[in-house]
Amino acid sequence: MSVQKIVILGGGESGVGAALLAQAKGFEVFLSDKSLLKECYRTTLQNAGIPFEEGQHTEERILSASEVIKSPGIPATVPLVQKLRTQGTPVISEIEFAARYTKARLIGITGSNGKTTTTLLTYHLLKTSGLNVGLAGNIGDSFAEQVITDRFDYYVLELSSFQLDDMYTTHLDVTVLLNITPDHLDRYSYNFQNYVDSKFRILQNAQPSDDFIYFAESQPIVDELSKRKPEVNQLPISLETAITEGGYLSNGALIAKNRDRSFTILQSETPLRGPHNAINMLAAILVAQSVGISQEAISAGLKTFQNAAHRLEPAGTIGDIQFINDSKATNVDSVFYALSSMDAPTIWIAGGQDKGNDYSQLDEVVRRKVKALICLGVDNHKLVDYFGNTISSIYETQEITDAVAKGLEWGRPGDVVLLSPACASFDLFKNYEDRGNQFKAAVQNLLVNDK
Ligand code: ADP
Repeated sequence: MSVQKIVILGGGESGVGAALLAQAKGFEVFLSDKSLLKECYRTTLQNAGIPFEEGQHTEERILSASEVIKSPGIPATVPLVQKLRTQGTPVISEIEFAARYTKARLIGITGSNGKTTTTLLTYHLLKTSGLNVGLAGNIGDSFAEQVITDRFDYYVLELSSFQLDDMYTTHLDVTVLLNITPDHLDRYSYNFQNYVDSKFRILQNAQPSDDFIYFAESQPIVDELSKRKPEVNQLPISLETAITEGGYLSNGALIAKNRDRSFTILQSETPLRGPHNAINMLAAILVAQSVGISQEAISAGLKTFQNAAHRLEPAGTIGDIQFINDSKATNVDSVFYALSSMDAPTIWIAGGQDKGNDYSQLDEVVRRKVKALICLGVDNHKLVDYFGNTISSIYETQEITDAVAKGLEWGRPGDVVLLSPACASFDLFKNYEDRGNQFKAAVQNLLVNDK
């Protein structure tokens, strides 16, 4: 039989990892990226002797592939991908490809918000309990590159809807669906149901004995489950009611029951605050129970977890005014949870590039928590128009240092100044990390001057 030709579209972390794995498995490999590659990826491909092109797609070469691995960043609607599909060439994701070459048990985590936090926490719980576990998907090193040496017994995979879209046969042993709120609709023909369907692909190969952990107060999830009635062991999570099999929050305690295992911890004993993080923690605890981790190990792991930066991250305290960096909150739902987590009068810094935001979800929480609003970014008028009648003090700026200084000026001892933008960052910053870092630097700068 002739050697199969694998073409990889997109030369980022996942594409380069897939190229290395395909080469290791004896395929003829070619990688094509319409943009220029990052230096580190170009060097990796050159060192491995893998042929590639950048700044263009040579169609003839791509269309002759026996299988194509597509980067999650490339929409299915681009003409080249359409042509591949029309001629019957399989187009798959790096996750689908890599999963063929591992015997490890796979834990898949998705949702519109909370994926990274829950994935990192689940990984931390498994690792600190002594399991031999890898971390991959939408985070860290590519799954494909890691399975070349397939040295782990478990992988915790953060899965975006774009990755799920090109997965077909991968069997995930444990799955988590945190929530579904409108996001990325431009990639789903502006049809919310298409996005819901994409998220539910996480269950497409589930077996009846597999555990499926989900948030039971996310209405789109509940509606879809009642339509689909999937045959899988369901472990719901609730913030409102006690649950016999699953997890819930009761008087500040996280309680999880999964088959014969029960677990309880006070949320105040953990480093993660807010109702959203109660959901994330319960999901991670239920996964830990599914793979057999002891109560003591889960408890110890929860207490030592450090979340990734820019997610309700303490950024400094000046004169008893606490500054919090939640720059990763780029949509309204995450801001809802951020504001709900605040237990002090809050000066809220928001704004950036508006994504067609509907702020009505925030009406009640803003009335309860927010004493002032600082608008930072190109679409300030949207915030001013919406909150002008609810919030008495509103300030507009285009400078993050000015926003932080205003927060300090308006703050009283015991207050919180929270950056939780609800918007994309690309108007004034490179990305949300840059925005969060500039916020932290501005706070540190005031802190130095305060001493
Ligand atoms: P993702 O990887 O899905 O973007 P993150 O864990 O990075 O999720 O969190 C992104 C933002 O979403 C955080 O800033 C936080 O405010 C918010 N968030 C985290 N977990 C949840 C959740 N379970 N439900 C709603 N919002 C959440």
